Amino acid sequence: MRMALIAGNWKMNGSLALVEEFGRAFADVSLPVNVEVALMVPFPFLEAAGRTFTANSVTVGAQTLSDRPSGAFTGEVSAAMLRECDTRLVLVGHSERRTLFGEDGAAVLARVKAALAEGLTPLLCVGETLEEREAERTEAVVLGQLEAVFDNLDEAQRVRLVVAYEPVWAIGTGHTATPNQAQSVHAAIRRRLAHYDQALADGMRLLYGGSMKADNAAELLAQPDIDGGLVGGASLKVDDFLAICQSAG
Ligand code: 13P
Repeated sequence: MRMALIAGNWKMNGSLALVEEFGRAFADVSLPVNVEVALMVPFPFLEAAGRTFTANSVTVGAQTLSDRPSGAFTGEVSAAMLRECDTRLVLVGHSERRTLFGEDGAAVLARVKAALAEGLTPLLCVGETLEEREAERTEAVVLGQLEAVFDNLDEAQRVRLVVAYEPVWAIGTGHTATPNQAQSVHAAIRRRLAHYDQALADGMRLLYGGSMKADNAAELLAQPDIDGGLVGGASLKVDDFLAICQSAG
């Protein structure tokens, strides 16, 4: 039985006041026991989020990290620094990092390895563009992004990842993938993971992301291969995010 994970990705949004607002809300609510909740906040809020959320059993995550351990890399943040702020999860390969910041397969792999080396859980994002979907290349693109990482890890490393399928055309657009569209890609990812190892495939948590909202989450999360959500816009509103967390139970 895979534990559901609902992860909010605040992107470059939010404030210390919002961290506090979420902290108060999560202190007062009881979440389903089989659901893990995580919030991926901007770097400057990590420490406050760690202090605020640890007591409320919300996992704190970061949105990216450097592939280097330390040194003269102005503006970068290392995996060890994230660990010091009680960060446990880190997004890697989000489509915004791939397209806006030029992170290719090698850059994504290097960041996954840097996270693993410090004991962080990499949340690897994969997904196709609309053009790729229309050219019927969805599986080729998604599985290619998956293999670029998984082919280069050993067995002990692979089991430590979480994977999020985020179709680029669904991110921030209000065009959510239908439950069938999402399930079909999730099933393809799980079949591909079974080529490495059946237990890896059975245990891997596969999240869906892309315009997941309070009113469409339950139907997506009811699909057999969808184990949770990576939520952007709706993770900035306490009530919406809590409703999504509740619907995962
Ligand atoms: P939206 O939920 O705003 O579409 O964002 C999804 C996403 O990119 C989460 O990482």
